[in-house]
Amino acid sequence: MRGREPPVTCDNCGRKVPRNKAVMDERVINLSTEANEGNIRFVTRRKVYYCISCAKHRGVFEKKKAAAARFAARNAARGY
Ligand SMILES: [Zn+2]
Repeated sequence: MRGREPPVTCDNCGRKVPRNKAVMDERVINLSTEANEGNIRFVTRRKVYYCISCAKHRGVFEKKKAAAARFAARNAARGY
């Protein structure tokens, strides 16, 4: 279904962007209930979408580049 992608909302600025143009990032959310007696901690991951400009602004691309470099370095260390 090319060209029929449902738009996603940019998590930062709220702009509607086509899914194939949006940049997906994963955000780790820490929820702690230290005020309660149980002291329960939740760690949840949420997929967020950013438009191109927000992704650039927030350094999502840099993070991806760093991850790729790390991956490449690991593979080099293993002798691939
Ligand atoms: Zn945005």
